[in-house]
Amino acid sequence: MSTPAAISIRDLAKTYAGSGNAPPKHALKGVTFDVPQGEVFGLLGPNGAGKSTLINILAGLVTKTSGKVDIWGHDIDRDRRNAKASIGIVPQEIVFDPFFTPFEVLDIQSGLYGIPKALRRSDELLRAVHLDDKRDAYARSLSGGMKRRLLIAKAMVHSPPILVLDEPTAGVDVELRRQLWELVGELNREGVTVVLTTHYLEEAEELCDRIAIINHGQLITNKPTRELVEMTREKIVVLTLDRAIDQLPYHPAFVKSAKRDERTLEITYDKDKVNAGQVLALVQDQGFLIEDVTTREADLEDVFVQLTSKQAAKASPA
Ligand code: ADP
Ligand code: MG
Repeated sequence: MSTPAAISIRDLAKTYAGSGNAPPKHALKGVTFDVPQGEVFGLLGPNGAGKSTLINILAGLVTKTSGKVDIWGHDIDRDRRNAKASIGIVPQEIVFDPFFTPFEVLDIQSGLYGIPKALRRSDELLRAVHLDDKRDAYARSLSGGMKRRLLIAKAMVHSPPILVLDEPTAGVDVELRRQLWELVGELNREGVTVVLTTHYLEEAEELCDRIAIINHGQLITNKPTRELVEMTREKIVVLTLDRAIDQLPYHPAFVKSAKRDERTLEITYDKDKVNAGQVLALVQDQGFLIEDVTTREADLEDVFVQLTSKQAAKASPA
């Protein structure tokens, strides 16, 4: 038998009741997927996609409308206590009492989980998130990045096998983003299954073993990151030619060719049908001299645009 999933989500739906004249909001429309044990799993989607709603259902902060969720094999309805013990959640918003020190924040949280003093890991966790030198500073004196790291430690006081981070790097500078990525990597190498939500494609591509994309409350895809990136068969080459382009070169393997300006041509081609060298040869065969060439690799952004526009095309008009 294969290893059970760290988190199993089946037909999960959430409709928020509209307040006043606002209509009900279908934030999740029947989402099904598994988070495999030991992975860094990315839940990717634009703002309003339903990511926080899903995370808040896992956290017990939002009540689902229908569907089934198991956390580490524990059904969140029938076995809330064990489900809760198996997961640590870092919410999207930073909230702290500014007068507690990092050590106190962790100690109080440990108390809430009923962990006896002798078994608390506050100092060990402060070291793990590189905050041991801030042990006794007021939380209000911490930088934004330190606060985020403290929140991660806080989510880990009960040593859950799963850590969930909701937009850990939204509005965070590049350096701090790197630091947080490293910390996530360290925890994962120690065996923690990590789920993170993000609307940064680059972050998901860099950090995650597997990526699920949600948009308008629906799951669009769920694949290993590599496979997802490889889904883009199109490549792009930009050519500067020796003279003005009167007629665009044509070939069946060209998905698109377009003039950027008088002498610059952008060709999108299917990399399964031709390679860059053949594209150049085809253009030269049509009588052009090539003065400069640049290429662009397709990345997750291309896949994302392809998938979400497909979804938009399928959706029936309201
Ligand atoms: P994301 O985290 O992907 O940005 P959310 O889960 O926060 O998305 O929101 C999904 C949708 O549900 C959005 O349209 C949002 O406005 C709506 N929504 C979120 N929370 C509530 C709420 N408490 N009441 C009503 N609508 C909500
Ligand atoms: Mg959110």
